[in-house]
Amino acid sequence: MKLDQLKVIVTGAGRGMGAHFATRLHEAGARVAAADIDEAALAQLPAGIDRRRLDVSKEADVVDFVRWAAGAMGGLNALVNNAGILRDGLLVKRDKKTGEVKKMPISDWEAVIGVNLTGATLMVREVVANMLEREDRPGVIVNISSISRHGNRGQSNYVAAKAALAANTVTWAREFAPYGIRATAIAPGMIETPMTQGMNQAARDALVANIPSGRIGVPEDIWQAVRFCLECDYANARTYDVDGGLSM
Ligand code: NAP
Repeated sequence: MKLDQLKVIVTGAGRGMGAHFATRLHEAGARVAAADIDEAALAQLPAGIDRRRLDVSKEADVVDFVRWAAGAMGGLNALVNNAGILRDGLLVKRDKKTGEVKKMPISDWEAVIGVNLTGATLMVREVVANMLEREDRPGVIVNISSISRHGNRGQSNYVAAKAALAANTVTWAREFAPYGIRATAIAPGMIETPMTQGMNQAARDALVANIPSGRIGVPEDIWQAVRFCLECDYANARTYDVDGGLSM
């Protein structure tokens, strides 16, 4: 699909990669409806982008948002399913000094599953239902997974959500193919955004030493992959790793 023919929802568009995708899509002539839990962050996006607060983990809010976005844009034929959070921690850990055994709080598990998996799934459900009701097709979905989907220490909750999102990209590509709707996913490696800014320099240096491309990624690297998924009508069902070679 051509970018200037897209009527596209971008979630988590207030900052980081989502803000970059929304801005690039707008510059390319797409109609964009931006969603984020942080209304103040949405206000920083370029004029001409439709925007509204949304918590993707709340079913009723997602239903309302998608209906509103399709109305505001005069249709809906694409979703960049990007909103995500971290609540990193080991599932079980023994404190070296005190010997105390600590467990991941169930609230940390539920928060990450709620946004990164339930929220992303609700977005797909409502966007595709809207496409079918409106006969807005062809359509395309780009899910933002992660290379953590292969398994990563300290990220049980995040890994579970991102692996499920990649697996269901296959499910949804198969389910929606009869309607002319593609489902794709990108799995970024380590990307410079507010989400990753807290990392200390030693950990950062160790990580970069393991990246064949020799640097941490930037949102533009992932935009190029999102753009490919949107534009290439033969891209379907796959999760594309874009990580500078980190997960090799
Ligand atoms: P980010 O800088 O933290 O941006 C994520 C945005 O999503 C924030 O504006 C955040 O709002 C918003 N958000 C959080 N919870 C939400 C909710 N319930 N409903 C709607 N919006 C919500 O993250 P990023 O690094 O750009 O990551 C974007 C996506 O890429 C995420 O799915 C992430 O898991 C994935 N990813 C990132 C990396 C990386 O290295 N950065 C690597 C692999 C995959 P608040 O600021 O208010 O929380």
